[in-house]
Amino acid sequence: MIRLTYFSIIGIVIALCAYWITSNPGQVLINWQGWEIRLSVDVLIILIVLYTFTFLMVLKLLRWLNIANFLSNPKRLATKRAKAESHLDQAWGSYALGDFELALKQGLKAKSANGENNSVLRLLAKVTQKLEKDENPYLEKLKLSSGNNIWVHKQDLHKYLQDKNWPAAKEIVSLMLEEHPKNPYLLKEAILLNARLSDWENAKNSISSMEKNRSFFAKNDLNHIKAVVDYALALEEKAAGKKSEALNLLKTSLNNDPSFAPAALAAIKTLIELGDIKTAEKTLKAIWKIAPNDELSDVALDLNPQESSTETYRRVKVLCDSAPHFAESQHLLAKSAIATKHWPEARKALDTLIGSDKASKETYMLLAKLEVKQKNDYEAETKFQKIAEQKPLGNKWLCHACGSSPQHYLPICDECGEFDSVKWSKN
Ligand SMILES: [Zn+2]
Repeated sequence: MIRLTYFSIIGIVIALCAYWITSNPGQVLINWQGWEIRLSVDVLIILIVLYTFTFLMVLKLLRWLNIANFLSNPKRLATKRAKAESHLDQAWGSYALGDFELALKQGLKAKSANGENNSVLRLLAKVTQKLEKDENPYLEKLKLSSGNNIWVHKQDLHKYLQDKNWPAAKEIVSLMLEEHPKNPYLLKEAILLNARLSDWENAKNSISSMEKNRSFFAKNDLNHIKAVVDYALALEEKAAGKKSEALNLLKTSLNNDPSFAPAALAAIKTLIELGDIKTAEKTLKAIWKIAPNDELSDVALDLNPQESSTETYRRVKVLCDSAPHFAESQHLLAKSAIATKHWPEARKALDTLIGSDKASKETYMLLAKLEVKQKNDYEAETKFQKIAEQKPLGNKWLCHACGSSPQHYLPICDECGEFDSVKWSKN
């Protein structure tokens, strides 16, 4: 409607002008170097209008054929492009070195040298994200084109993972998986995010999807993750009072990763509760050879409440002799020997560690205890306690993501929320 009024007004103005010109006729005379052109004003105006129209059409045609760019000095264009590329290279360099302010400056120089394009926008979006500004206009611009969807989602995902915002990260991954359901990187993130959110059933589903497609993980690593997920599910079953379901899951867990000690410990404890001491002992023997730890050591001492202390010592000795190279074996043997007053055996076990890099705080604390129990030698006790203070802590549960050391194994670190980061290791 507005357009129609606009054109009507222009039409009326043109008509009025035409009327005015015809009612005020005149002549134009051009006299130049013996040439003489005589025109009426009407014809002159028509000629001017026609000339302007033709000129505009030719210009449009040139632009359509993309000749205009070609005409506007290709050498200059190439220089501009090279300049922009060099600024962009420098910007990525600064980005890699963590100097985001400088990267932003160089990125903006690239932008002013050769205008906005996807590569410049991506750099600026990433830098702005690193600078933690409230607004990211470059990211918004990239979002406008659907070709950038994956790239934009990946930026958001990185940010959420960095902020440990697991629910938001999971939402993005689910969104991306709709378009790329077989992508191994996305399936890996789905497994880890479900696990971090303790959504073990969905973690298991994501693992199955990965197994049907190309795996992101090496076979052993994926098997270990499967073992941890089944272990977590088993703990849930056990908490709900379903001991045999829990035990089945723990068996699957150990089948997938026979060295996963927490699953063995939970299985041993459940078997003891179910009265199956024999299988509990078998499970303990199997794991002790591969991955002994302090919690398994405690359960080894209390495995069978019905046996005498000498019987316990004999059983423990067989267990420790099966893996004598572990400090855990010598400590356990010494503990059991002290409890049954087998003094020479206790000393022998500790002597194998003294002087080696396996000796830890615990080795000297046990030595101090032995001096008191065997000889009532409180002086020697103090001496060894002092040495113990200077010794390393030895193996313990340690989160490899945040460095905290929980008392027991945890599938998700209490301190930092990371999945499967707690390992039995040296400080
Ligand atoms: Zn942690």
